[in-house]
Formats: sequence, structure tokens, C-alpha cells
Amino acid sequence: MGMNPLQWCGSHSSCPGDTRGAASSFHGRCDSPSVSLQVLDAVKKHGVKLTTVLTTHHHWDHAGGNEKLVKMEPGLHVYGGDSRVGALTQRVSHLTALKVGSLSVKCLSTPCHTSGHICYYVTKPNSSEPPAVFTGDTLFVAGCGKFFEGTPDEMYKALIEILGSLDPQTRVYCGHEYTINNLKFARHVEPSNPSIQEKLAWAKAQYDRGEPTIPSTIAEEFTYNPFMRVREKSVQDHAGETDPVRTMGAIRKEKDNFRVPKD
Ligand SMILES: [Zn+2]
Repeated sequence: MGMNPLQWCGSHSSCPGDTRGAASSFHGRCDSPSVSLQVLDAVKKHGVKLTTVLTTHHHWDHAGGNEKLVKMEPGLHVYGGDSRVGALTQRVSHLTALKVGSLSVKCLSTPCHTSGHICYYVTKPNSSEPPAVFTGDTLFVAGCGKFFEGTPDEMYKALIEILGSLDPQTRVYCGHEYTINNLKFARHVEPSNPSIQEKLAWAKAQYDRGEPTIPSTIAEEFTYNPFMRVREKSVQDHAGETDPVRTMGAIRKEKDNFRVPKD
């Protein structure tokens, strides 16, 4: 088993209860009441104790199960960076450090999709396993979240300066499986980028096998994610801009109106 905390969409329920810090990671919807039950089933199956919920942001499809989870499992710590997060017990901010079982968690403030969005960077001390980052609706595989409560400048800081400076081998666990559509937009932005072609072919094969495309790594994202590549000339040329922040704003706007091709 990997070191990644149990993950449910953007509402990350962490439970590395034993000394091995064993836990696993998987993905699913968290916008229905049954999800809380699924989380508890998984906790039981893995023989760990659920102690902590790391919530990336307040949107219903990420925090909607919190109230129910706390009712079923009293005493849970619910962390988040926004008072709108359901059942919040402790508000965190940039660089707040937490321990969950044997894992170290560093909170990274990444406002833009929502003003209180937090990404969680998880490492296991004295382990050779690569770190993991839970990015909610800030960074997706080959994409990023909509700018509901923020600016291109904030998303540039989040993606390039904060997430982009993590260990390149860090596993990226995002809140949604939008990979194929994201890569079709990436291909539209950079038609001759071979990393995009390869990742798209792989993602389609994963889809056909019923397998997830998550996690990716920070290093990989820099090769095919147009929002991580706003400093590249090819992306700036596509946007008709010469400044990375303006490029960020331009391609976000374009993606918001992008009609995804069928192929
Ligand atoms: Zn959201």
C-alpha cells in the first residue's frame, strides 16, 4: 500500500492510523450522501482509524459529505482554509503544518478557484516514497480549476510558484477526472507537443480499461499542462500574449468557451 491518505475527491479523509502509516488512495464522487458510507467502508476494509478530514474547499462536491461523516464518526478533525467548509473544526492557512498518523502534512494556500482553497502536501518522514499533493480544484491533470473567486495572477502563483516548486516527483491527486477533455484542450493550444499526444493516448486507454488517470506528477504536468506552461513561447504565441500571467488569463477564458472535440 502507498502512503497516500485515503482520498475522496477533494475532501480528503486521512486515516493512516497504524505505525506503518499505511493507507491507500482512491477516487470517487463525494456529492452524494452514500459517499460518507463508502469512506467508512474503505476505512474498515483497510483496518485503519479515521481521524482527520482534509478539505480543499467549500464546494458541495468536495465538502458536502463532511457533516454526515462527523455525525457518523464523532470527534473527527475537519481541516480547511475557509469558514464555508462544512463541519470545519480547525481553519488552516498557508504553511500550517499538521501530523496525521505518521504522515506530515503542509497546507498550501492556493486561492483563485475559491478564495479559501488549500492544497495539502503530504510526506512520510524517513521514507523513500515520493510525496503526494492533494490539489482539489486548483490543479487537475493537464488543467486547472475555474477562476470563480480569483485572478490569473493568483492562479499563476498557485500553479507555478507554489505547486510548481514542490519536489518534481510529487504525486498529484486532484479532485476530478477531467484528464481526457483537458488534454484535448492542451492539444488545441499546442498541436505539436508530443507529450500531450502521448498522454492523451494513454488516458484514453486507461479510460477504456476502466482505470483512473490520477495521479500524475508535478514534473509531468510541466510537460503537457497548458496552465503550467504559460512561460513557454508556444503557449504564449497561441494566446497572443508575451506575459505569463496574461497568458494564464487568456487560455483560461478560451478554455471556458472551448467546445471539446469528439475524437
Ligand atoms: Zn470546486
